[in-house]
Amino acid sequence: MQQDQPVTIVIAGGGTAGWMTAAALARFLDRNFRICLVESDDIGTVGVGEATIPQILLYNNALGLDEDAFVRSTQGTFKLGIEFVDWMRPGHRYMHAFGAVGRDVGLITFQHYWLRARRLGLAKALDAYSLNEIAARAGRMHRGGPITGNAIPAMPYAYHFDAGLYAALLRQLAEAGGVDRVEGRIVKVDRHGEDGDVAAIQLASGERITGDLFIDCSGFRGLLIEQELKTGFEDWSHWLPCDRALAVPSERAADFTPYTRASARPAGWQWRIPLQHRTGNGHVYCSDFMSDDEATATLLAGLDGAALAEPRALRFIAGKRRLAWNRNVVAIGLSSGFLEPLESTSIHLIQSAISRLLKLLPGREIREADRVEYNRQTDFEIERIRDFIVLHYYANGRDEPFWQMRRQIAPPDSLHAKIELYRANGHIFRENEELFTEAGWLQVFAGQGVEPAGYHPLADAISKADLTEYLGAIEELYAREASRMPSHVDFIAQHCAAPPRSITA
Ligand SMILES: Cc1cc2nc3c(=O)[nH]c(=O)nc-3n(C[C@H](O)[C@H](O)[C@H](O)COP(=O)(O)OP(=O)(O)OC[C@H]3O[C@@H](n4cnc5c(N)ncnc54)[C@H](O)[C@@H]3O)c2cc1C
Repeated sequence: MQQDQPVTIVIAGGGTAGWMTAAALARFLDRNFRICLVESDDIGTVGVGEATIPQILLYNNALGLDEDAFVRSTQGTFKLGIEFVDWMRPGHRYMHAFGAVGRDVGLITFQHYWLRARRLGLAKALDAYSLNEIAARAGRMHRGGPITGNAIPAMPYAYHFDAGLYAALLRQLAEAGGVDRVEGRIVKVDRHGEDGDVAAIQLASGERITGDLFIDCSGFRGLLIEQELKTGFEDWSHWLPCDRALAVPSERAADFTPYTRASARPAGWQWRIPLQHRTGNGHVYCSDFMSDDEATATLLAGLDGAALAEPRALRFIAGKRRLAWNRNVVAIGLSSGFLEPLESTSIHLIQSAISRLLKLLPGREIREADRVEYNRQTDFEIERIRDFIVLHYYANGRDEPFWQMRRQIAPPDSLHAKIELYRANGHIFRENEELFTEAGWLQVFAGQGVEPAGYHPLADAISKADLTEYLGAIEELYAREASRMPSHVDFIAQHCAAPPRSITA
């Protein structure tokens, strides 16, 4: 290996993961690195990822993407949270809205005052104390500081977008930044004799691409990390048994709701993601409890516009690769593991993997300590997200066999501890770099009907009159702020309306 040559990073795969990785590496690495991406036109991408969480703004900003141009070119809309319909029981709905719920006072967090006030019959449901939820339900959108000038934090938001168009946009950026794209099917992986690291990938054309570090973005098949290195997979399907999805676009809705909808179904759930040119829909289900034909019929019956294509079938197993970084291969995207898209976390996991890789970027030499730390952080992050998703299933009140079964399966220990802590005195703590905030956990606990026995005793320190005034003031501030916002449809028309285009699935 020549020391004066640039370090070569080879990205295997050009789906959302591959192009997100390529664009970020092109943006942040200097001429001491050479980046090459290999993708095959014959092998499609999953490309269903359409709903995101607010952290994506960090990624887009880091690349210098202009927000309005990005939304326009990806047929995007804005997202203030996720509405869960029929999860606790049929007819019930709640939202996991981004951002704060209520306001903390002094030492203790909002939920303790809310729990006390609810017992006294003085509190409304949580939605009255979330600016994001009030705005989402009213179909409004705003960015930047508060319109009313009151001391209200900015309203966090994410996007819905066409993942295929997003990958195309990132490809342009990556190639402009110097990434070499090679088209071809990878048919063989060569290893170094001495240490077993990957030395090169071979294409069907006979071309051989050598590298120092390989990023496996080949999707579920995990071409390098699994098929070649046999890294192993930790199967979480006993907690998350849904193993199939059907995705179908439908005619665009008259107005685009600024939130994703996840509606429970007899053996899974259905997503609804409004884009400017179409609505994305999908049915995630468990094949032990529902046939593919029934699942298709359920999906199509739940559309709010005409289907624009045949449903596309996808299969998966929930879980993660035992090591996301093994030898000189780092798996990013679906090759590293999969959690169903209930909380729109997959694209975020790609983004955080890229950021972790950049922080621990090896030169020509890979040090074991870096690899261990990368894998430790990766495991922590995905396990906590898994717990959050399992909570939606574990705490449900539905009658169908699938849902009864979900209540009976013991949750992971880390989730069990979190539920017990909340059930005791309403405490929620966010650990280290855990993705979901206290407000997120609170909304899902409350929305799924988990009830605490008590609350922090200091919440009793204020009088009933002060408690009423405190909650009323928050509600009024947020309602007034939301009432001044433009509608989501007008906001898009004003800033980032996309040109009409043909529909892609
Ligand atoms: C049903 C479903 C719904 C989802 N919804 C969301 C969502 O709402 N939000 C979200 O954040 N995420 C969502 N995701 C996840 C999201 O789609 C993925 O995380 C994202 O698309 C990344 O995929 P990928 O790039 O890892 O793999 P893929 O899209 O599968 O790309 C794999 C790439 O590898 C290439 N490749 C494979 N084999 C070879 C070979 N032999 N030679 C050369 N090239 C090869 C392919 O050509 C392709 O370019 C969803 C996933 C599923 C399954």
